[in-house]
Amino acid sequence: MSGQTVYAIASGKGGVGKTTITANLAVAIAELDYDVAIVDLDLGMANLAGWFGVTPSGSTLHTVLAGNASIADAQYDAPGGVTLIPSGTDVSSYADTDIERLDAVIPELRSSFEYVLLDTGAGISHETVRPLGLSDGVLLTTTPREPAVDNTLATIELLDRIDASITGLIVNRTRPESALPDDLLAAQTLLGTLPEDSTIATAHEQGVPFNIAHPDSAATERIRAIAEELTDTTYTSETTPLAAAGLDPDTLAAMDAVDIDDGALLIDLEDIDADLDFPDTSGSRPAGETVLDLSGESDETTRDQDSGDDSDRGGFLSRLFS
Ligand code: ADP
Ligand code: MG
Repeated sequence: MSGQTVYAIASGKGGVGKTTITANLAVAIAELDYDVAIVDLDLGMANLAGWFGVTPSGSTLHTVLAGNASIADAQYDAPGGVTLIPSGTDVSSYADTDIERLDAVIPELRSSFEYVLLDTGAGISHETVRPLGLSDGVLLTTTPREPAVDNTLATIELLDRIDASITGLIVNRTRPESALPDDLLAAQTLLGTLPEDSTIATAHEQGVPFNIAHPDSAATERIRAIAEELTDTTYTSETTPLAAAGLDPDTLAAMDAVDIDDGALLIDLEDIDADLDFPDTSGSRPAGETVLDLSGESDETTRDQDSGDDSDRGGFLSRLFS
């Protein structure tokens, strides 16, 4: 969409789905083969890492905004091929942050990634509003229900005042009977809607983006459509990294050697007698096992072979290819 690459996901009311949309939209954009970074700018209530089952082991955005680390130090590989910049979760590191440093951080990310998504906190504090002004466009998120819609109308006024540009509206948690908010739709572009769907909340609890856990769901289709619109790129059956690597789902699903762990496909090479074209997995991997990171860039990903229940393996694999 017209050269915009840095988007802030914002809302008037909390709990409407900003973080859910940030995480899954990032995966959908990465599936279209773009380098995507996501930044947890909910500094006081950081939780974006949890959507990916990632636990930051070192620097976070808190450390960066305290002037104690570079943005490169706070980047983590997340399932789906997304680069995650998490915030810290302890109050003392939050107290040391200086939001003004964001003015230098966002341009750095802009030059390193094709798309950058900023997950913001709710409300209109200085800290929440600052990222909106640094973005190319705001993806305004609401539910169809009244308190959220009223807060969204107020947020639009605020965005006008700070000259932030609104790319469009995403209405989350719609039900078949939901009426979309006319007063909002009259003034804003509707980028898309996401249905109320319990698998979205379950995937969140499990730390797997829903469009990885449920690639065939209506919600995944909707979020992919938004990714297509924002990037002006079309999804094809070749777009998923597994399919792009030439891996055939039936062959894989029949293999005892295949396991899935946290968004990565683990394959025990010794059990395979098919001629498959794997990405280069040389490096720190244990002998005999290859890891296909869904990003197609598996360098940083190491996982232990999981011997857990794999009864749903075939279904999972074929869903990855659909
Ligand atoms: P925000 O970031 O705006 O505070 P979240 O993304 O954290 O909102 O979403 C709030 C809660 O609602 C989370 O527990 C999430 O799993 C759940 N949720 C979000 N969207 C949906 C949906 N479409 N259907 C069901 N649950 C959802
Ligand atoms: Mg959030």
